[in-house]
Amino acid sequence: MAVPKKKKSSSSRNMRRSHDSITAKLSNECPNCGEPKLPHHVCSSCGYYKGREVSEAA
Ligand SMILES: [Zn+2]
Repeated sequence: MAVPKKKKSSSSRNMRRSHDSITAKLSNECPNCGEPKLPHHVCSSCGYYKGREVSEAA
């Protein structure tokens, strides 16, 4: 296994990890029921996608 030449400082390590806690936000809302949903995903509350029902409502 490769051995690192320089030890990362705790500051650099923490700066790298500063984005680890960021999670994807629900930026779209369903045009059918208005619930927040992931873009390009079937709505999890009504099962609609592109104006028609594609799956059973959860
Ligand atoms: Zn919906």
